[in-house]
Amino acid sequence: MAAVIALVTLLCLGWTAYTVQQGLIQSSGQRLVQAATNAAGKLDMMILERYRDIQLLSTTPMAQGQDPAALTRYLRELAHVYPAYQWIGVTDSHGRIVAATDPSSTSSNQIQRLWFQQARTFTDARILDAQVSEQSNGALAITVIAPLRSLDGQFLGAIAAVVGVPSLMDILDDTIQRLKDSEWTEMSHVEYQVINEKGALIADSTLQRGGNLQQLGLPSATLVGMYKRGFIEETHLRRGTSVITAYAQVTIAHADPTQRWGILLRVDRNNILTPLRSFLWELLVLAILILLPLLGLVLGMLKTLHEEWYTTKHEFQRAADAEMALKKRTEALHGLVESAERLAAQQDIDRLLRQLLHLAKENTGARYAALWVNGGTAHTAIQFLTDGVDDAAARAIRLLLLDRVGREFLRQGNGVLRLAHLTAHWSALGLPADHDPMTSFLGVPIRCHDQLFGHLSLANKAMPHGLADDFSELDEQVVLTLASQAGTAIQNLQLLHDSKEQASRDSLTGLLNHSTTLTVLTQELSRAERSGQPLAVLIADLDHFKQVNDTYGHLVGDVVLRETATRFCETARRYDHVGRIGGEEFLIVVPNCDLDALRECAERFRSSISDLPFATPSGPLAITVSIGATVWSSEHPLNSDLLRKMADYALYRVKSHGRNGVDIIPHPAAQMPEEEAC
Ligand code: GH3
Ligand code: MG
Ligand code: MG
Repeated sequence: MAAVIALVTLLCLGWTAYTVQQGLIQSSGQRLVQAATNAAGKLDMMILERYRDIQLLSTTPMAQGQDPAALTRYLRELAHVYPAYQWIGVTDSHGRIVAATDPSSTSSNQIQRLWFQQARTFTDARILDAQVSEQSNGALAITVIAPLRSLDGQFLGAIAAVVGVPSLMDILDDTIQRLKDSEWTEMSHVEYQVINEKGALIADSTLQRGGNLQQLGLPSATLVGMYKRGFIEETHLRRGTSVITAYAQVTIAHADPTQRWGILLRVDRNNILTPLRSFLWELLVLAILILLPLLGLVLGMLKTLHEEWYTTKHEFQRAADAEMALKKRTEALHGLVESAERLAAQQDIDRLLRQLLHLAKENTGARYAALWVNGGTAHTAIQFLTDGVDDAAARAIRLLLLDRVGREFLRQGNGVLRLAHLTAHWSALGLPADHDPMTSFLGVPIRCHDQLFGHLSLANKAMPHGLADDFSELDEQVVLTLASQAGTAIQNLQLLHDSKEQASRDSLTGLLNHSTTLTVLTQELSRAERSGQPLAVLIADLDHFKQVNDTYGHLVGDVVLRETATRFCETARRYDHVGRIGGEEFLIVVPNCDLDALRECAERFRSSISDLPFATPSGPLAITVSIGATVWSSEHPLNSDLLRKMADYALYRVKSHGRNGVDIIPHPAAQMPEEEAC
């Protein structure tokens, strides 16, 4: 963070320095252009003034009157007033010098001279290009020439005035000095050059002579021929340093041929930027002294802000996690409520257990669920439900539930076990680990009537996208709640079953009571009607039972009744029903028993009583029973009342014939009295 801030600060500083530097170059360049333009104007004016001097002189009577002495005096005075004149001479119409600033040149003949020849052709004064002439003593000079003409235009002679170029350059020297005084220091590299329109050097503050700057490839020398003024950054031809060169044109009026000079005014780029650099250096020192502590402060604040942001973010994350956990818990709770309702609604224990397995698996995301039901001494896993094949989990859970060491292991933690990477525990217990072991395990006990009813085991939890996961504390709570709910539901079902059983049984003998016996008879009759199978009904009545009571007491009578029930139950087949319908009267329903089989069946019941004496507190007693029977068949379909009446009638007949016997009435039309058969 600090590095980023430092980098950004440096970039800003760099950008600012660059902008300021460019601004400085622009403003310095503009001021340089202004100075060059001013100098150009002044140079132009100076040359024009000299031109006007000569133009005026050419029209004066003194020059035309050819008074040599007076003219000579005037010329010398003029040259004295304007030292720029190096030489002034006046000729007659034949080119002979009649007056001159230099006495030695008087009387010399100029007729062959170019300037004289040119003057003869002009009507007024002209400026000739800067050149070295005899009169300029070898220095570069411009020459102003003018013809002397009478009023009628007759050529009377010519005037030539040589104006030294170096003397014209005082203006530029002055300009440079002023620039050094006001803008830059005395040590600054400030210089000028004057070139003609072809680029040839006319004047140079560094006293360079000759050369053509355009041909040397100086950009400013080319630009000054194209534009009136401007500036450019370029490289100094000799020193190779970077310079700012301002340029301005000087248009020389009345020149022949037409002339245009260019002034190049330049300063080293470094001289312009030196103040900025020293300012920046001072700024840097100031920044180090002032800004660094500030930067430290800002960094400190940023650090605090960052820490606060981080804490807030962390808090947000925690809140989001808590919300997510709450949502999960709420969903789990809804699932649990629904599951509990479904478990409580089950009427059958077997279906309830299957439902429990399914719900536990669905609510936890387990791939495998198993339920072991406590069978007393024999431990058997009665149910294994799987979602897909998971042989490893099945093997591991069986081992855990059926192996003695595994059961010991399960007893730890009161039967609740939540484990990840079970292999490690496996080998710690000395149990053989599978090659493809369980990744996670959750086991809880199911308790019912304070007894261990069974153990619910879940294995290999998987996330929705399939990756293996561990069972969470929430999963454990969910499964514990389900197991507890299931325990309560099982208990309720068992209680319900017990109370139903109690209500349907005779309290003395444990046989079906009167009403249940009749209900069973009706149900079996319906079944026989549906299947078409025969159904036998037997009514048995102990013989002279009153005497047993009267002789040995009721308690012995009760013993006889219980023993009778036991014997009848032992004699009955699995699908037969034995009920007590009166004091010592029993009704036996025998499904799938036709008339042929009935006698033998009834005989079996009779002899089960008479064959062996009854062991009672009063000693062994010989007891007999009379049995009346009938049968329902599809040929003779009867209702239950009629069946009972027929069996009763048969019993009556046995009693009438001496007891301890069996009688059967095969169908109503056979032997029942008229009124009863109807
Ligand atoms: P029969 O051979 O004609 O059937 O004569 P019986 O004496 O067996 O018939 P009876 O109907 O005269 O007597 C039935 C007796 O059964 C009368 C009653 O005291 C007795 N008894 C009825 N219920 C019970 C019971 O629950 N316990 C005992 N000990 N005796 C009972
Ligand atoms: Mg009786
Ligand atoms: Mg009896």
